[in-house]
Amino acid sequence: MDKRQLKFNSKAIHGGQAPDKAYGAVMPPIYQTSTYAQTTPGGHMGYMYSRSANPTRTALEDSLASIENGTFGMAFGSGIAAIDAVMKLMNPGDEVIATSDIYGGSYRIFRKIYEKYGVVFHFVGMQDLEEIKAKVNSNTKLIWVETPTNPMMNIVDIKRVSQLAKKHHILFAVDNTFATPYLQLPLDLGADIVMHSATKYLGGHSDVVLGALVVKDKDLADQLYFIQNASGAICGPMDSFLVLRGIKTLHVRMQRHCENGRAVAQFLADHPKIDKVYWPGFPDHPNHEVAKEQMKDFGAMISFVPKGGDYQDAIKIVERLQLFTLAESLGGVESLAGHPASMSHSGIPKEEREKSGVVDAMIRLSVGIEDSDDLIADLRRAIEH
Ligand SMILES: *Cc1c(COP(=O)(O)O)cnc(C)c1O
Repeated sequence: MDKRQLKFNSKAIHGGQAPDKAYGAVMPPIYQTSTYAQTTPGGHMGYMYSRSANPTRTALEDSLASIENGTFGMAFGSGIAAIDAVMKLMNPGDEVIATSDIYGGSYRIFRKIYEKYGVVFHFVGMQDLEEIKAKVNSNTKLIWVETPTNPMMNIVDIKRVSQLAKKHHILFAVDNTFATPYLQLPLDLGADIVMHSATKYLGGHSDVVLGALVVKDKDLADQLYFIQNASGAICGPMDSFLVLRGIKTLHVRMQRHCENGRAVAQFLADHPKIDKVYWPGFPDHPNHEVAKEQMKDFGAMISFVPKGGDYQDAIKIVERLQLFTLAESLGGVESLAGHPASMSHSGIPKEEREKSGVVDAMIRLSVGIEDSDDLIADLRRAIEH
């Protein structure tokens, strides 16, 4: 049976997986080893040293490639380490065009680390393709897209950006952390690289930090495998195992995340004390049509702004929440709330933040898979107090 032909739910469980060769273990063992016995120099069974490759990590990397409809998967110690590996493809003078309301840590590594090495970054609102076109020149080497964006929940049209990137021979990467391959498949839509913070939905249980890249092209994969081994930002076997375990329930979790996300978004939109709700599932969301086209559903990441609210009002609401945990991160089974201005996006200067709409009063929710009635009751109590 060709497992590449399986549908998504089956791939989440079986993609790239085979029972362990030694004893038939159905889950790949956690190969907690740094090195592997050789019978003669070079006489090994495919593994020599665990920075280069480890069987538990390989099982995860094959699963990642499978669920993203890619060919090659690479797992790293964190999402940022995966981004770092992509950035190491750049040379001084190369230019990168990135989504303006991007994950704070991505912005930080771009501006604070890679600018120092002569890489030039342009941050643009990517809902309008013209904004990207305006920054393209002969030095442009990479377009970096996040969609839905964080925390504005804007949607970037992956297919149209990929057409632009192909026309100008620019590498095109999509951070698929928020959507997951359950909702959208960037490689199918023309991206060259898919990146994940598997810390979020892929792991899904808030118990591991891990990053991933998936590509289709062999040459690109070879370059990235070289960087992965040469720079060494790999993840350990235990963490690989945890994410592999998480992926096996990704589709059922995502289905419930999306149901709960819809219920919570609707509750907030109907509430008289709420001014704005950002969620791509609303028909009046500016990019709703694109979201409908490229996503299977609309996810469970929601941002909202209380009416007439300021920095302190947002802080008070998040402090009053009892079922939503006030915490960084997202994508776990439990619901989390965050205050971008003081937490995830505090590293982005206020003017730059507000230019893309991230006001001081904004609250971001990662809606979990509890009962939505309980989540709504918690929000109602915190908002109405
Ligand atoms: C969390 C996150 C990252 C960074 O991943 P880590 O695993 O925390 O290093 C990158 N992009 C997005 C969209 C994220 O949410």
